[in-house]
Amino acid sequence: EPVDWPTQDLVAHRAGTTPERTAIVDADSGGERTYRELDAAVDSVAAAFDAVCASAGGRVAALVDTRPAVAELLYAALRTGRTFVPLNVDLDADTLAAQLDRVDAGLLVCERETESLADEIADCSVVSVDEPASAAVEPLDHQAPTADVTPAELSRETTALMLFTSGTTSEPKGVRLTLGNLVASATASAFRLGVLPSDRWLVCLPTYHMGGLAPFLRSALYGTAVVVQRQFEPAETARVVDEHDVTGVSLVPTMGKRLVDTGWAPHDGLRAVLLGGGPADPDLIERALARDIPVCPTYGMTETASQIATALPATAGEYRDTVGQPLVNTTVTVVADGEPCGPGEIGELVVEGPTVTPGYLDADATEAAFGEYGFHTGDRGYRDEDGRLWVVGRADDRIVTGGENVEAGVVAATIRDFPGVEDAAVVGLPDEEWGQRVVALVAGDTDPEEVRAHCRAELAPYEVPKTVRVVDALPRTPSGTVDRDAVRNRLQERYDSGS
Ligand code: ATP
Ligand code: MG
Repeated sequence: EPVDWPTQDLVAHRAGTTPERTAIVDADSGGERTYRELDAAVDSVAAAFDAVCASAGGRVAALVDTRPAVAELLYAALRTGRTFVPLNVDLDADTLAAQLDRVDAGLLVCERETESLADEIADCSVVSVDEPASAAVEPLDHQAPTADVTPAELSRETTALMLFTSGTTSEPKGVRLTLGNLVASATASAFRLGVLPSDRWLVCLPTYHMGGLAPFLRSALYGTAVVVQRQFEPAETARVVDEHDVTGVSLVPTMGKRLVDTGWAPHDGLRAVLLGGGPADPDLIERALARDIPVCPTYGMTETASQIATALPATAGEYRDTVGQPLVNTTVTVVADGEPCGPGEIGELVVEGPTVTPGYLDADATEAAFGEYGFHTGDRGYRDEDGRLWVVGRADDRIVTGGENVEAGVVAATIRDFPGVEDAAVVGLPDEEWGQRVVALVAGDTDPEEVRAHCRAELAPYEVPKTVRVVDALPRTPSGTVDRDAVRNRLQERYDSGS
């Protein structure tokens, strides 16, 4: 039985206990809100939700990118027992319309930048957090007197959030996350990173993914502040961290690299730079630590409400490429052929614990994802004698060539170590002789033959890519992960054209 985590209206609780503490700082406008002020704003948004969509419960979708208003929408949905469904503002109208249809939202919230897109795709009412340009869209504020709001009964099982995965391996999947999942994640994260009353977490990731939303939920539970910056920009983000005494920030590794490349040395109070969502190059970790940037390589996913494992800077420095120990109450079992693996053995990572989703929007996908040891991540990795975790890549990335198993992630990590290489993706292409052959797409300024020579020195002969193609940048999905199908296509083109 999972621990019975406290589940209540996080902001109402804070308005009662620490009303004068800062809740949210807008780094772009300089505006600030205390928990008392946030609580009042949440009440008025909650009243607007009740006024616009009559039915209690239901789902509120949003096309709103990183800004403080996202917190108000999230907590107003929670307060009224609705599920908040932030959608990816970078997707095309058809994809969004299909997602919105599956979500069956009673209301779509937009902002100035997404107003015409929202109007185009919505079957339901559309309201904007900004002054609307079109008469078809209503402003969210001055909808109803706040006295009308009756707070919903909340429990651990309340579905607070639905998020779509990044769509790296297939179509994005809608993930249901309960209030229990979110509170368990915030709590477990605190046990790993610690909490100070002076903590300020910078959000500059998209808030339609878990990495951008999690800091809001954590901070409300802890009574600490979030600093919001709409757009990551390395020099500007470094300045915001120093100017606002930011103590923690979540980034994807490519952002981390750009930040370190600025030559920045942060203020002493910065305690944690979470690098997650994809593999962080060990050389980046070394360079960051040498500059006293406290990087914490993190393994997480939408289905586990963010972090599964996080390495503290000391661990990251000592154990190359690890993502550290799983968080408290999260169990990671490495499974191969249906059996748990021993230390050092690679298998699929299977996760169990109170942060794990009860399931997807699609019941068949849920059915397929759960097994004897818990939730099947589709990722491969291994643990050492002490339980530290290494992620080597996705299950789909495993290449079988001439009967030998090749871990694409291991080959890619070897290539990333080579001077001039910024990033690398390794995939298998169909091959008549070998079944599959190993090929690599490399971003950076380097020579393909030298990359292959480096691989020959470091890897088994069957692991060495038969083809290496150097490009300016790897193709990515809208959320920034490497688009493996596009990588395959780029390498296939080259093969077909015989060059
Ligand atoms: P989809 O599930 O739609 O294919 P996605 O898995 O990319 O998309 P997310 O939930 O945003 O969607 O990403 C989680 C995935 O990111 C993990 O399952 C893992 O494959 C990858 N990932 C996250 N952190 C790391 C890490 N530190 N090292 C390697 N891979 C990571
Ligand atoms: Mg996934």
